[in-house]
Amino acid sequence: MTGYIYYCELSMGNSNNRLVTIAGTRPEIIKLADFIPKVNEKFDHSFIYTGQHFSPRMKDIFIDELNVKPDYDFKCNSSDIELIRARVSPVLKELRPEYVIIYGDTNSSMAAALAAQEAESKIIHLEAGIRDFDIAVPEESIRIKIDEMASHLFAPSDLCKSVLSYENVAGEVYVTGNLIVDVCLRLSRIAASRDLRVDLPAEYLLLTIHRPENVDNPKNLKLLIKHFETVNHKIIFPVHPRTQKNLRSRKIEFPDNVIMIDPVGYIEFLGLLLRSKLVLTDSGGLQEESVTLKKPCITLRHTSARWETILLKANVLFPPDRTSSLSETVEMMLQTKIERNPYGDDVANKTVSLLERIIN
Ligand code: UDP
Repeated sequence: MTGYIYYCELSMGNSNNRLVTIAGTRPEIIKLADFIPKVNEKFDHSFIYTGQHFSPRMKDIFIDELNVKPDYDFKCNSSDIELIRARVSPVLKELRPEYVIIYGDTNSSMAAALAAQEAESKIIHLEAGIRDFDIAVPEESIRIKIDEMASHLFAPSDLCKSVLSYENVAGEVYVTGNLIVDVCLRLSRIAASRDLRVDLPAEYLLLTIHRPENVDNPKNLKLLIKHFETVNHKIIFPVHPRTQKNLRSRKIEFPDNVIMIDPVGYIEFLGLLLRSKLVLTDSGGLQEESVTLKKPCITLRHTSARWETILLKANVLFPPDRTSSLSETVEMMLQTKIERNPYGDDVANKTVSLLERIIN
């Protein structure tokens, strides 16, 4: 295994290279929060927000709390790739950035990559090489395509770098770590000192589910609810708007040990995470935050794109149709000691230093 790449020589003052970063969803705003101000300091840089996530509780609260104001806010209010591409493309053609930085694997990321290609900009892909190893997962084909299109691929771990080397991608691959580590560690210190609005039980597990395979599929949702019923712990569940809509329209109820609350801002969410015993989730970002804050995680899916956390035994898969006991899995994972974070440290500084090496 190679170590993380350290780039110490900061070449100051070259601001002639126009650079654009494009994001469009809640997790992307969160992960870019420490990176955007640092890249603004060093480059002639613009931050474009496409608006795949657009409700105040999924967007504005995070932009305000994390203080990452977009230079362009397209308000696409849609996840339609063609619609987003058509909005981003003319602006990129006008800005003519030499490089476009794209985060992750959402429809907004795909649209941004297509627009960057049209503007003849080079693509730098953050979170390159993560894989569910299941092409039926909607994000998987997007990740693979963007990794093929990118000239520079910033992998969050050595494992992702290995994946990219097996896939023989054309671009240059670097291991930078995952930007979530900086944001999560910095803001969890603030979260630890704040009181929470929610009345919390003395001990609880933290639950989030939002993926279509779990919440748009009534069979899987009901299987999950049956599993939650068997767990001998209180479970705090901030309910994603997509999940809320489905629960209301299908009149699906959760058992009494599950305490449902509205989705919360990032610092409040970290407060809930810090005080929890264990995490149950289908969110990719939360699998990363759990290992960063040393909380055991159970991923309510048949696969994961965070295999590092599974290899470290910080995370286990538990798909809804599993016939074994979720309660036993919870008790087993509560004994887990998490010693290592596979996603690096000081990631935003290292990423910006690497950009300076590549671009200047
Ligand atoms: N999150 C939050 N408030 C909530 C629920 C989640 O701030 O009420 C954060 C969480 O900490 C993580 C991100 O939202 O950083 C995860 O977003 P999501 O589950 O939408 O996306 P995914 O991680 O699956 O891409």
